[in-house]
Amino acid sequence: MKDANSIHTINMNQAAKNIGPIAHASNREIALTEKQKILFWKNIEKTDGCWLWRGHRNKLGYGRMQVGDWRNNAWIAYAHRVSYAVNIEQPFSLLVLHKCDNPSCVNPAHLFIGTQEANMHDMDSKNRRVHAHGEKGGAAKMTNEKVLEMRALHANGKTRAEIGRLFGLGFTATDKIIKRETWKHI
Ligand SMILES: [Zn+2]
Repeated sequence: MKDANSIHTINMNQAAKNIGPIAHASNREIALTEKQKILFWKNIEKTDGCWLWRGHRNKLGYGRMQVGDWRNNAWIAYAHRVSYAVNIEQPFSLLVLHKCDNPSCVNPAHLFIGTQEANMHDMDSKNRRVHAHGEKGGAAKMTNEKVLEMRALHANGKTRAEIGRLFGLGFTATDKIIKRETWKHI
């Protein structure tokens, strides 16, 4: 981690959210019994955006559930990884990351496969973002959706200053996002 110092500038919750998924990759296949499949869907509360995991969650907010046959191969998997396996494909040793920054979300549309490198870039850009705000004293929270919206507005002719005002960011931070110097994984 080349940017370890900047970790201290973000709050622990955010740091945990960013660092968390690194440990989540596993090469085990996520196989659900019929009963577990029913439980999986029962534990999801779908909203317009996120699908909230209503089952057990760990301290960091990530959903957890038992998968596999209890007789010989049961283990506790992360719910967002289970969702990826159920709805898209087995993630195996790849990371399943959140576009929405909501650890309890299991909406497959909000999940994407990433490498540890992508996760680091994500951390890095988020750290820079918090740095920028620390200096300005603002509190805007960037999300993947906002970043994409900012770039779309730019493509449609809005100026950086206008976009920055809309999203509560300074010119430099806005410029970096548009030029993909930050948030470059999306
Ligand atoms: Zn979500």
